Amino acid sequence: MAQQEDVFKKIVSHCKEYGFVFPSSDIYDGLGAVYDYGQNGVELKNNIKQYWWQSMVLLHENIVGIDAAIFMHPTTWKASGHVDAFNDPLIDNRDSKKRYRADVLIEDQLGKYEDKIQKEIEKARKRFGDKFDEVQFRATNERVLENQAKFDNLHHRYQEAMNAAGGIDLEGLKQIILDEEIVCPISGTRNWTDVRQFNLMFKTEMGSTADGASTIYLRPETAQGIFVNYLNVQKTGRMKIPFGIAQIGKAFRNEIVARQFIFRMREFEQMEMQFFIQPGTELDWFAKWKETRMKWHQNLGFGAENYRFHDHDKLAHYANAATDIEFRMPFGFKEVEGIHSRTDFDLSQHAKYSGKKIEYFDPDRNESYTPYVIETSIGVDRMFLSIMCHSYEEQQLPDGQTRTVLHLPAALAPVKLAVFPLTKKDCMPEKAQEIINDLRFHFNCKYEEKDQIGKRYRRMDAIGCPYCVTVDQQTLEDNTVTLRDRDTMEQRRVNISDLRSIIEDKVSITSLLKKLL
Ligand code: ATP
Repeated sequence: MAQQEDVFKKIVSHCKEYGFVFPSSDIYDGLGAVYDYGQNGVELKNNIKQYWWQSMVLLHENIVGIDAAIFMHPTTWKASGHVDAFNDPLIDNRDSKKRYRADVLIEDQLGKYEDKIQKEIEKARKRFGDKFDEVQFRATNERVLENQAKFDNLHHRYQEAMNAAGGIDLEGLKQIILDEEIVCPISGTRNWTDVRQFNLMFKTEMGSTADGASTIYLRPETAQGIFVNYLNVQKTGRMKIPFGIAQIGKAFRNEIVARQFIFRMREFEQMEMQFFIQPGTELDWFAKWKETRMKWHQNLGFGAENYRFHDHDKLAHYANAATDIEFRMPFGFKEVEGIHSRTDFDLSQHAKYSGKKIEYFDPDRNESYTPYVIETSIGVDRMFLSIMCHSYEEQQLPDGQTRTVLHLPAALAPVKLAVFPLTKKDCMPEKAQEIINDLRFHFNCKYEEKDQIGKRYRRMDAIGCPYCVTVDQQTLEDNTVTLRDRDTMEQRRVNISDLRSIIEDKVSITSLLKKLL
C-alpha cells in the first residue's frame, strides 16, 4: 500500500512537471481542491470529452446534446431537492481539528472488513491452487465468517441510519463510529464531535443589492440543465421516446474533505446523459446502459479486471436503482461513473414547481405520461486521473537505465507525432517542418530540435506521445524517416508519404468508436 501511495505521489508530480495539471493560482500557493489543466492536460481532457461526446451523440441517432448555463433559476434547486437534501454528514476530530465525512469513515471501515476477507481468500487460493473452491471457503472458514458477520452487521446499521425516515440519522451515524472504534487517521483518537449536516452548494448573488439581488447557486450537477430543457429539446427536435440528451459542463461542490488530487475537486467537469423512457421499462434500460458504459470504459484497453460495478446501498431520494463503475486507482477501487434510474422524480418536481405540464404524448400508445429517466454521469477529471494512473510506468530498460513513460491510449494522447531533425544543419529542420505542415491538419504534431535524440524521446515518452520520427541525412536523399514506437521503442524506416496512413488510423477517436459498435 505504501508503495502504491508513492506511485500516486509520483503521478501527481509528473502531472505538474509535464504540463498536465497545476494547482489553481499556483503563484499564490494554490486553492484547496481546485486545479488548472496545462498545455498537455487540456489536450488529453479534450480528447476524453470527444470520445464520450461522439460515443453518445454520433453513435446514437436518438441522443442529442445541449450546453446549458451554469447559473439556473434558484427554484430549480428547490425542486430538485438540492437546497434541502444535498448535504453530507460531517464530523470533526477535536484533537487533530480535521473534518471528515461520517459516511466515508464508515464506508472505509466496511472496506477494511472486505479487505480482510479478500486476504484470507487469496491466501487460501495460493495454498490450494486449482482445487480451491471459493464458495465453500466463504461458507466455512472461521475468520471469513467472523469478518462477514461484522460486515453485515455494520452494513445493516449503516443502511438504517442513512435511509431513516425524516432524513439521515445523524446520532445513529455517530454511534456507529463510536461502536466501531473508528479513530482519526491523523490524531489516532476517538475524540469526535457530533455529526452535522453540511450543504455542498456554493451560493452567490445575482444583480446588485439595490435591485433586490437574488441568491443563486453554482450548479452541483449538470443534470438539471437537461431536465429544465426537456420540453424545449423534445419539441424542437421532435424527439420520440426513448431518447437522450447529453451535456458536458462544469459542476461545483463545496466538498468537506477534498483529497486525492483531482479525484475530489470543488470545481470539476461532468459528462452526463439523461435518457428519457417509458415508465415500467426502466430496469431494462438501466441494465442496457450499465453494459454500454462498461464497454466504453473497457474499450480503452486497461483490462477488465480493473473495473467493477458497485451497486448502491444508499439510494438517493430520487432513484430506484443505482450503480457505480469503479476503477482500480492506486488508492483502491473508486467511483468514476454513476448510473442511476431516476424515475420521473426530476420532471415531476419541475412540473410541480414551475406549474408547466412536462409530459410526453406517446403517439403509438395514444396517451401522455411523465417519462422516466436513466442517467449516466461521469466525471471528466476522475476519468483523466484513472487514465493517468493506469498509463504511468517507470520502466527498467535492458541497458540499466529507466524511463518514465505514459502508455496513454494513442487516440487520447495530447501529441500524436513528434518530428525531430537529427541536427540543426543541412536543411533537416526545414524538412521536419515540411512533414509537420503536411500532417498537422490530420493530428496533433510537435516539432523538437533541442538536445540529443535520446533525450527528446524521453520527453515524448513522458507526455505519452505514441510516435516520433527523425529526419536524418538519408531523409534528404530518399525521403524516408525513422519511425519510433513509444511502447515497444522499435524503430523502422518508412517513407514520408506513408506516415499519414500508418499513424492516422491508430490515433483517431474514430478508431476507438469503431470498436464500440
Ligand atoms: P462521491 O460519492 O465520490 O462524492 P457522487 O456519488 O456524489 O460521488 P455523483 O453525484 O454520482 O457523484 O456524480 C457523478 C460523477 O461526477 C462521479 O462519478 C464523479 O466521477 C464525478 N464527481 C462527483 N463529485 C466530484 C468531485 N468532487 N470531484 C471530481 N469529480 C466528481
